[in-house]
Amino acid sequence: MGHRGPFLSSNFLLDHVMILRVPEPAIPKRCSLYRVYLKLRSENKKLRNLAIVDPLTGLYNVRHFVSVLRSEMERAKRTGAPLSLIILDIDYFKSVNDRYGHPTGDMILKSIAAVLKDLVRLTDTVCRYGGEEFIIVLPGTSIQQAVKVAERIRKAIQDKLVKVGTNDIRVTASFGIATFLGDKNESVQSFIDRADQCLLKAKRLGRNQVVSEALPPDTQMTPEEKRALFAAFSDRQH
Ligand code: GH3
Ligand code: MG
Ligand code: MG
Repeated sequence: MGHRGPFLSSNFLLDHVMILRVPEPAIPKRCSLYRVYLKLRSENKKLRNLAIVDPLTGLYNVRHFVSVLRSEMERAKRTGAPLSLIILDIDYFKSVNDRYGHPTGDMILKSIAAVLKDLVRLTDTVCRYGGEEFIIVLPGTSIQQAVKVAERIRKAIQDKLVKVGTNDIRVTASFGIATFLGDKNESVQSFIDRADQCLLKAKRLGRNQVVSEALPPDTQMTPEEKRALFAAFSDRQH
């Protein structure tokens, strides 16, 4: 039997509810219509949140992740700054559910989500990618830096003791990492697939580990130098 689909309600909302974009009205603040406007604006904000957030973990959902990744890939093409993707999957989670029950499994997913939010920068985007899979978009991050972040998260998950009732539970996770250098026209899906291939390798190698694509040769160029080089080339073409 399938588990409760946590994404159903948010995707359903996006597909079936028209989210109103209310322009700032020219209503005097003391007018009763202004209160109606404020209420509408706050309801609207809540709806927009519901449409992009996974209700169980509070992380962003897949739909929002794809839209963030698409715009970050475009930005990377413009700036030449590396963009990394970390995908992680909890190991043997089915046996955790089988042993402790689905509600306990849910508590563990929530606590992993909190670990992830805690260990990334404000500019990174953490999403729940599927049942027990998570994905992190890291703009301006090289593959070497992403490996360090993933290792930090891997250790934190391994060391985290989740207390549910009388049970103390530990889980581990496997990680795959890919980096987009903005130098070619790659689709969002192909970028995700590259990270996914690394995740599969981490599982095959025995789980609880980080696997990345081959580290590129160090060009010794800073993002500023790259930008200057791009600018010089584009000047020549005009
Ligand atoms: P692997 O190490 O190969 O990833 O093994 P696994 O058992 O984690 O992988 P598998 O794909 O066999 O099982 C995933 C499990 O995750 C099965 C499913 O019940 C559980 N799961 C998925 N979503 C949820 C959820 O929202 N809540 C709970 N409690 N469990 C979930
Ligand atoms: Mg999985
Ligand atoms: Mg798993």
